[in-house]
Amino acid sequence: MARQFQFDLQATDGKARTGVISTTRGDIRTPAFMPVGTAATVKAMLPENVRATGADILLGNTYHLMLRPTAERIDNLGGLHNFMNWERPILTDSGGFQVMSLTSLRKLTEKGVTFKSHVDGSQHHLTPERSMEIQRLLGADIVMCFDECTPFPAEEDVALESMRLSMRWAQRSRDAFGDRPGHALFGIQQGSVFREQREESAENLKSIGFDGYAVGGLAVGEGQEAMFEVLDYAPDMLPADKPRYLMGVGKPDDIVGAVARGIDMMDCVLPSRSGRTGQVFTRRGALNIKNARHQDDPRPIDEHCTCPACRNYSRAYLHHVFRTGEIISSMLLTWHNLHYYQELMTRMRDAISEGRFDQFQRDFHTERAKGDLPPL
Ligand SMILES: [Zn+2]
Repeated sequence: MARQFQFDLQATDGKARTGVISTTRGDIRTPAFMPVGTAATVKAMLPENVRATGADILLGNTYHLMLRPTAERIDNLGGLHNFMNWERPILTDSGGFQVMSLTSLRKLTEKGVTFKSHVDGSQHHLTPERSMEIQRLLGADIVMCFDECTPFPAEEDVALESMRLSMRWAQRSRDAFGDRPGHALFGIQQGSVFREQREESAENLKSIGFDGYAVGGLAVGEGQEAMFEVLDYAPDMLPADKPRYLMGVGKPDDIVGAVARGIDMMDCVLPSRSGRTGQVFTRRGALNIKNARHQDDPRPIDEHCTCPACRNYSRAYLHHVFRTGEIISSMLLTWHNLHYYQELMTRMRDAISEGRFDQFQRDFHTERAKGDLPPL
């Protein structure tokens, strides 16, 4: 019999938690950071190299994959894992967020969303039922409920209406998902920045019953302070014995702050996208490799980092290949950034296990405040 989806919480330190999610395709150590493989690839990286950075799970985007190459085609080719050569767990989003952010002509009704593709203008429908079908065809290990990502800012009554629609869609997602041993369905809490709405949403989701719970509707432009205010209470409303996933977050300090508030899983395009624009994350904050100060610098980005970009190449070389638009620039900088993110997760998991997460947070902020190395 296939191994069931299971979450073992192994240690807590304050609100921070560490544990393991077991799936049929392998374990996910939490807190976990999921690199984003939008179009069945983490851009500029081979899957085995993504794995080498320490990633246990990837995120795939339903919206992009349903348009190109289509879920049906991926299913006929053996599913997304086979298609993209990633054997480990995959989480797919529901498509709802991208429909809202990438399409202009769309119509939202109780039934679902009708929209025009940003690729070729063709018309498509997404409903809770269709989203579940697409995510099943893709073969996702963790499936997300179809919901409406409430825009920010939203008036209280608008947010309430939106949240309640998402809760009706959550029930329809649950019904359409059915019973699929070894696969998990996550509910998504909405309610914007309104505490009572977050509470109502959480109660609603708990009564439906999910394998994990996401905090949705954040990282949509509200800023870190407002996000942390919501995270001070919202995760506590969700079941402690199930994984909690904060969608679309974030910068390294967002991630540390979210883990401190009880979040177990996160995803963000930032480390991979930044790798293509020259922004590099280190323990001493972010730097931009395109700046002229690096052009004669023989030092690595970070002498303590064990990624190939830092082991084998100087800042001067990385500056040069970025400036000349060489493809290796995206490869090396993305690798470094993903490595940095996964190393950050490892350090947090260790600190929580050893009961020193407060000290970890202090050291993290002290080190960042130093800024990049002074020029030679
Ligand atoms: Zn590195």
